[in-house]
Amino acid sequence: MQRAGKGKTPRRPKKPSNIEKDPVGVYCRIRPLSGEDEECCVEMISSSTIQLHAPDGLKANRNGEYKEMQYSFKKVFGIKTTQTELFEDVAKPLIEDLIHCKNGLLFTYGVTGSGKTYTMTGSPGEGGLLPRSLDMLFNSIGPFQAKRYVFKPDDKNGIEIQNQVDALLERQKRDSQASVPKTPSSRQKADPEFADMINPDEACKSESVDEDCCYSVFVSYIEIYNNYVYDLLEDAPFDPIRPKPPQSKILREDQNHNMYVAGCTELEVKSKEEAFEVFWKGQKKRRIANTQLNRESSRSHSVFTVKLAQAPLDADGDYILQDKSQVNVSQLCLVDLAGSERTNRTRAEGSRLREAGNINQSLMTLRTCMEVLRENQMFGTNRMVPYRDSKVTHLFKNYFDGEGKVRMIVCVNPKAEDYEETLLVMRFAEMTQEVEVARPVDRPIYGLVPGRRQRNQAFKDELSRRLEERGGPVNGEDPVLLNQLIESLPPLPPCELSDPSDDQTLPRMIEVLERRHRIRQMITEQFNQTANAMKSMLQQFDSQIHSKETVLFDQRSKLGEKDKVIINQKTEIERLEKKSKTLEYKIDILQKTTEMYEQDKRSLQQELESREQRLQKELAERRRMEQRMQGMVTDTKMKWEKECERRVNAKQLEMQNKLWVKDEKLKQLKAIVTENGGPGSGPTEPPVKPDRPSRERDRHVAQKRSASPTPLSTVPPVRPMHRRSRSAGGEKWVDHKPPTNLDLDTVLQPILPNAIKVSTPNEKALSKCHKYVLRHQELASDGEIETKLIKGNVFKTRGGGQAVQFTDIETLKQECPTAPSRKRRSGSGEGPTDFNENRAPVANASSAQGYQKRRRP
Ligand code: ADP
Ligand code: MG
Repeated sequence: MQRAGKGKTPRRPKKPSNIEKDPVGVYCRIRPLSGEDEECCVEMISSSTIQLHAPDGLKANRNGEYKEMQYSFKKVFGIKTTQTELFEDVAKPLIEDLIHCKNGLLFTYGVTGSGKTYTMTGSPGEGGLLPRSLDMLFNSIGPFQAKRYVFKPDDKNGIEIQNQVDALLERQKRDSQASVPKTPSSRQKADPEFADMINPDEACKSESVDEDCCYSVFVSYIEIYNNYVYDLLEDAPFDPIRPKPPQSKILREDQNHNMYVAGCTELEVKSKEEAFEVFWKGQKKRRIANTQLNRESSRSHSVFTVKLAQAPLDADGDYILQDKSQVNVSQLCLVDLAGSERTNRTRAEGSRLREAGNINQSLMTLRTCMEVLRENQMFGTNRMVPYRDSKVTHLFKNYFDGEGKVRMIVCVNPKAEDYEETLLVMRFAEMTQEVEVARPVDRPIYGLVPGRRQRNQAFKDELSRRLEERGGPVNGEDPVLLNQLIESLPPLPPCELSDPSDDQTLPRMIEVLERRHRIRQMITEQFNQTANAMKSMLQQFDSQIHSKETVLFDQRSKLGEKDKVIINQKTEIERLEKKSKTLEYKIDILQKTTEMYEQDKRSLQQELESREQRLQKELAERRRMEQRMQGMVTDTKMKWEKECERRVNAKQLEMQNKLWVKDEKLKQLKAIVTENGGPGSGPTEPPVKPDRPSRERDRHVAQKRSASPTPLSTVPPVRPMHRRSRSAGGEKWVDHKPPTNLDLDTVLQPILPNAIKVSTPNEKALSKCHKYVLRHQELASDGEIETKLIKGNVFKTRGGGQAVQFTDIETLKQECPTAPSRKRRSGSGEGPTDFNENRAPVANASSAQGYQKRRRP
């Protein structure tokens, strides 16, 4: 016996941290109340949460100290949950794992009477998780099971493999040892049959069983009571007279660090019925022990272990691969824990108290282990987990330290009396949920082609079909064929020896036997040949199939790739379609915007055009106005110029007259003086009458004037003869063209050969010439350019200067070539200013009478 604390589980080096972990799956199941009027203190508030209400009595006593507490689980199963539903959610994944070589641990926890046994074992018609698990397992692997004793447990928790022949021999041996064959009638009718536990239409099965493996199921059933382990399947002969107390077992660790019960019976079972029979056998034994030893069943833990061994079939798919390293063993432990209530509640005394203490001790250890584990995982500490302090925790050590899936069903009886215990159970359950267990890893797949079993079966079927066609035997042990064969052999002679000196019978016998032996050898040879041919044929067939399969596999992978490409392209197409849709939408919007802008543009253009038209109109109007104004200005200017000239002339005449009068007076005065003077004075010359300006229009001015002396021969000699054609002749002209004048491209140009062209008249030019012409340009009131050719004669004055007497004005009119040219006209005032103001108002066809301009030398 191993006492708690005797030895601690050695610390193993920490596993790499990248291992995937899952928390312990904790489920809660609430059982219905037994009486309808009972007080209920548990309420399911959601599919994962329950709420505990303190019972009325308790609330009153503790003065409201108890609050309403909520606890959450992976899932909560209410009172209406059926066993099937529970199985589907909780145990089915564990069976799947078991079939896929992964370990699992499922236990029920709760106070006595909360439904642990009901959940695990169930009752007739309502089988619990255990019978359902067995049902599913055998439904799944049933047809792929190995022959009995092919897998054989060694005594170190491992499983060995032996060939078919050894297995057959062992079968025969065991069969002969079994004294009395079991018949169903020998079983007690009280045990519910498997069929009673599970409704056939609730049966389920795993869909992912590897058919190229052979399977065997081994079950063991132990009970841990008072920290002792008992084997419930041990076949110890029971002595009713002197009953021996059952022998306890010890725990050991195998090479994979899994704990196991040393020397515990592991029975190979081939069907669910058989497995269940074994279970009932253990149950019965437990019951008997409890009654005989006066124990209470609720204080023991029971562990039912289902071990599944599996090994791959060989390449032919005919036999199991004889390789121990290829044998995979996985196990599922179904544990019905003892009631979790405290000692005082059991009202035990003496040995009972000790038992209860131990029960609680083991559950306490379980609790401590969970706490330490959680702490280590949460805070990264490395505190030692006291697994060894109790058998239960020690047995399942490797589920928490190593790998496996752990699930716990917390059973709750909602009745008021259990409230306080239930609170403790809930706290434990909540804490357990935070513990994480390494997820079992997938085992590597053997390097053999899948589908071997099916191919082998198909081959066998085909073979028997062909043999049948040929009228041959369907199987090798056909008695007809055997008889035929025997009959074909030479008949045995009578071999009765009646006479000791008979020397014929035996030699005859020997001869026949030798002949038979030879025939047998021949047949064997023939058979071997045929078998070899058959074998090679089969191998060929197999290799063909294999190559076909590889081709198929290749094609499949190619197909997969193509599919992927198609999917990719589809998504690409979808993406592009979406893009094109958005672009179309954008184009639409842009088109609409463009239309709007174009409309705007059109209207703006229209407006612009209308404004331009208006502007043109206004401009034309302005031009007209300007022309009118120009005309008016020119007219007015002309008028005023004429007026000015007229006045100046008048003034000049007046002044000349005055001068003349004074001259006269002076002459008269001189005459008087000379008359009155000395005799030296000569006769008086008649006074020379100075020329008076004789222009008609000045006449009235002259009348007003007082008489004045005639100016002293200031009048230039006038040439009365004027011939226009002379301008083209040998006379020399001064052509005065102010620089502001425009060049006009008209044919009506004055032709002045030998002319000296000047922009301003000067002394030198005038001295050389006899004629003078001034080209004066101005803008007429009708917008035309008017060029006046003012012509005159050049005289030499007495003082040595030159004087011009204007004699003729010629006017040329032309349309104004440019608008700005009109402006020049205003500038024309600058150059010949003195000319303009001194110009004589001479008529077009004016004669010699004119105004003379005097230039100072
Ligand atoms: P435990 O094993 O926890 O001591 P049991 O499983 O023996 O409790 O249950 C006590 C009683 O309650 C049994 O008679 C059982 O049939 C009944 N019971 C427990 N759970 C349920 C349930 N979910 N539905 C119906 N009856 C139940
Ligand atoms: Mg029970």
